[in-house]
Amino acid sequence: MAYRSINPNDGKLIKTFPELTDAQLEKAMATAAACFETWRKKSYAERAVVVAKAAALMHARVDEFARPVTLEMGKLFAQAQGEVVLSADIIAYYARNAERFLAPVCLHPGSGEAVVESSPFGVLFGVEPWNFPYYQLARFAAPNLMAGNVVMVKHAGCVPQCAIAFEQLWRDAGAPAGAYTNLLITYDQVNRVIDDPRIKGVALTGSVEAGRIVAGRAGQNLKKSTMELGGSDAFIVLEDAELEKTIKWAVWGKMNNTGQCCVAAKRFIVVEAVADRFLAGFKTALEALRPGDPMEAATTLGPLSTEAALVTLLGQVKSAVAHGATLLLGGHRLDRPGAFMQATILTDIKPDNPAFREEFFGPVALFFRVKNEAEAVALANDSEFGLGGCVFTADVARGQRVASRVDTGMMFVNHPTWTTPDLPFGGIKNSGYGRELSSMGIQEFVNKKLVRVASIDAAA
Ligand code: NAP
Repeated sequence: MAYRSINPNDGKLIKTFPELTDAQLEKAMATAAACFETWRKKSYAERAVVVAKAAALMHARVDEFARPVTLEMGKLFAQAQGEVVLSADIIAYYARNAERFLAPVCLHPGSGEAVVESSPFGVLFGVEPWNFPYYQLARFAAPNLMAGNVVMVKHAGCVPQCAIAFEQLWRDAGAPAGAYTNLLITYDQVNRVIDDPRIKGVALTGSVEAGRIVAGRAGQNLKKSTMELGGSDAFIVLEDAELEKTIKWAVWGKMNNTGQCCVAAKRFIVVEAVADRFLAGFKTALEALRPGDPMEAATTLGPLSTEAALVTLLGQVKSAVAHGATLLLGGHRLDRPGAFMQATILTDIKPDNPAFREEFFGPVALFFRVKNEAEAVALANDSEFGLGGCVFTADVARGQRVASRVDTGMMFVNHPTWTTPDLPFGGIKNSGYGRELSSMGIQEFVNKKLVRVASIDAAA
């Protein structure tokens, strides 16, 4: 059974969920396709009534939505509450702004008139990950529903309760049947959904491996796709950074969601002048984290999402050490039930170590010492990934210059990479293509149609 709620705090199975039969899947697709024909004709104001209602319901029921996040994938409860609020904010943001973002754009040709209109593609298919089980859905669903598309989503196998709760949210908000559909389906069925002519666009957030498969399938069908994939973000510390505050942000950037963020700080690149002091402070702060039940407010180190995620990460650390890395802190599972891992720091990672190029998805920090700013930028860019990154310095102009030279989709100065509804999110290189959120995210799955008016007497 692929869809299972297992509490990673104790490894206990909460509930399993059956996959859809082919007949149920066909019915869901037919319903979505029929829904599109009416949904597309509604005004922005009519669609905004439903979307704003969904946001209001989520804002009103934060704890109710947050609980299954913590129970299914182990996010600290306060962070799960934060994710629910952020998701509701995203939904509300598109209810308010979609019409403005998609307003016709008048061009100014040499003669006559021209306008570019935005119209929805149709039924879209999203494949989404467990690490932010509502936020990922919100940033796909909200802009697209406001644009007049309808969406079908295959969520990750370990968060079925969150997947079902989010679908119910749209029903409670008054969305017509087929506007938002959760699909508990197999990989084989995923392929068939992508192939189906009723599907007009495909979005995936997840690993590079899944991205290659799903983007490849969409490509064979000549369907537009967006890919939000992994990252190995640099956290650059320059010699003039305010060190104490930088260390606080380093802990947040590494440990938020137990390190299971695509934009978690993964490679700490620190200039020599402050490297020892940074490392000592960072290690002390990580040692002070308190493991425990993620539902409890005193806990600051929760479990990983699944036992399998823990086993993978422990294997990566072991391999890194076998290839010459030094284990400065942690590196092992905690002696307690559940999928808990010690906060970990690896140093001395040379370019021939596989760890140098891998994404570590959890509480493992890779530490690199560099001579100066130029070396920091070169090392940050020596990666197949290009998602986010950040630089800490007291000189903001210098930070902006460094940010411009790092090849990623997002760079932050004096803050770890993070997300709000109004900032575009996405990467380059193996981190994928396309953008979600902001005024840009809503443009991905709309037809930009030119309507040109010319004088009938104009020259050919
Ligand atoms: P994953 O294994 O790729 O899973 C993501 C989704 O893809 C899940 O729904 C999964 O379903 C599905 N999937 C995987 N292989 C598939 C296949 N062959 N055919 C069809 N569907 C398939 O990724 P993950 O481990 O859950 O998530 C962590 C990864 O996501 C990290 O690399 C992280 O950096 C990345 N991420 C990126 C962003 C971003 O915006 N760039 C945001 C969050 C996470 P099952 O669960 O059923 O296997």
